[in-house]
Amino acid sequence: MAATGAVVSLAYETEAGMKSEHRCEHLVARLREKGIKNEEVLQAIGRTPRHRFVGGAVARRAYQDDALPIGYEQTISQPFVVALMTQALMESERPEKVLEIGTGSGYQCAVLSHLVKRVFSVERIPQLHRKAARLLHDLGYRNVMTRQGDGTEGWSSQAPFDAIMVTAAAATFPEKLAEQLRLGGCMMVPEGLAEHVQMLVRYIRQETGFERKELIAVRFVPLISG
Ligand code: SAH
Repeated sequence: MAATGAVVSLAYETEAGMKSEHRCEHLVARLREKGIKNEEVLQAIGRTPRHRFVGGAVARRAYQDDALPIGYEQTISQPFVVALMTQALMESERPEKVLEIGTGSGYQCAVLSHLVKRVFSVERIPQLHRKAARLLHDLGYRNVMTRQGDGTEGWSSQAPFDAIMVTAAAATFPEKLAEQLRLGGCMMVPEGLAEHVQMLVRYIRQETGFERKELIAVRFVPLISG
């Protein structure tokens, strides 16, 4: 494995006076209790300073297992969902090249960057894209490439990908993304309308089509084309 992600020691004193590193350990323990078993995924979460990816007043809640606002009506996903999606992605063959749709804060990119060789991520909102790109750079995540655009189109010049992770709710099957997945590759998609609870689905590309497995009910903001 190429452990190319940054080693982070950016302590953050919370109101309770507990340093972010300790709070991060608590979060990892909580995720373990909730059933996340992949130790590498837990370690990656343990090394990622979530407080840096959420701004201002909510930073003190960064190590609770909750989705939090990141501005522009978007959210950073709940750590349990990040962990579960990442774990499911690692279950079959280990991916080297991963595409994420919906960079948001950049947190999921950072977690993935500890686990895979290269991470590509697309975000449609320019301000979020710029902020995440700068932060990932400042934190030293050198194996992550981001761009601004419509993620439903994928990133054709970098295709095929070993795995694709969609972190916004897709109302219909993302055909163009699926075409950019290599044979045997895995794609995670929260399926359904954004105002409802969605189903997190894992697809594995096979010669004859896609094997589909429903994982858990989730809630994501909508995937918006164009
Ligand atoms: N993975 C993020 C959270 C994602 S929130 C994190 O770790 O913080 C969902 C994100 O998807 C939002 O930032 C939203 O702007 C983005 N999004 C929605 N539709 C999109 C599209 N078509 N292409 C790219 N990004 C999209």
